[in-house]
Amino acid sequence: REAIAGVDLGGTSIKVALANCAGDLLCHASISTEGHLGATNVLSRIAELLSQLSQKNAVSLKVLGMGVPGLVDVEQGITKFLPNLPSQWREVPVARQLGDLLSCQVRVVNDARAATLGELRFGHGRSCSDATLAFMTLGTGVGGGVAIEGQLRLGPLGAAGELGHQTILPEGPRCGCGNRGCLETLASGPAIASAGIRLMNSGQAPNLHQLVEGDASRVTVVEMAQVAQQDPLIHAALIDASSYIGIAAANVVTILHPDMVVLGGGVAEMGPLLIETVQSVIQERVGMFPTDHVQVLKSELGVKAGVIGAIAIAKDAL
Ligand code: BGC
Ligand code: ZN
Repeated sequence: REAIAGVDLGGTSIKVALANCAGDLLCHASISTEGHLGATNVLSRIAELLSQLSQKNAVSLKVLGMGVPGLVDVEQGITKFLPNLPSQWREVPVARQLGDLLSCQVRVVNDARAATLGELRFGHGRSCSDATLAFMTLGTGVGGGVAIEGQLRLGPLGAAGELGHQTILPEGPRCGCGNRGCLETLASGPAIASAGIRLMNSGQAPNLHQLVEGDASRVTVVEMAQVAQQDPLIHAALIDASSYIGIAAANVVTILHPDMVVLGGGVAEMGPLLIETVQSVIQERVGMFPTDHVQVLKSELGVKAGVIGAIAIAKDAL
């Protein structure tokens, strides 16, 4: 039997899935990126895992779709700039290397564009074949994607929809992309966590301190959300980040008036505070124009959006 596969390459983990040629999932697995960050190592680790899974499921791989966290030449399958991975990930011919290792066709796209396609076809967008959807994935980096009337917009180098690199604060912190004050510098998982850690270390977040036993490495958005009711400054930090995300969402609404704005990635685990703040910022900033039709939703596929979207990319290439 023939099969297709999807891979979502992230800064902390790599998600892999196999599906039959109709796109139905056969199995999935996840490995940690840490410890083997070198491009060649990571690619051979992925190939090994996919061969094992194919053997177990008695299938032969025809096409592999892969999402990578940054700019990629989608025609050639060569990485250009992956801001949150080591610089040796520049100009890596991922499609050729994985294709040689696995003897199959390989399609490479940006991870967030893959996740957008996943959400469009199998998540919140699935009930509406011509949905206009804006997607933001808020994790180590902040990615994005835009689908217009049911079609994922890729653009040259697949760079359309980089919603995380919108300027939100003109003189804000320097971003990995070279610009200042991008959404990513203000509302990525690490950006929010470091605001929490600063408050904790200066004694302004006693409940957070207690929850993580003073261990900065345990602070994520989830822990911050847990203590937000007791530590008012943590609550304020979460509101600040959510408001920046809201401004980015409001800009997208102004431009596109999508049917839905979908939020994914670890930061979306903040809970209702995020969704409610984003809704009210949209209302506040775009409200003189109709926005009632715009739904703000947490990703239905969650952390699997990227790998499921990568499978959809593979299926389209069959
Ligand atoms: C990159 C995007 C990527 C996102 C999520 C950002 O820093 O610029 O291309 O989609 O991180 O991985
Ligand atoms: Zn940027």
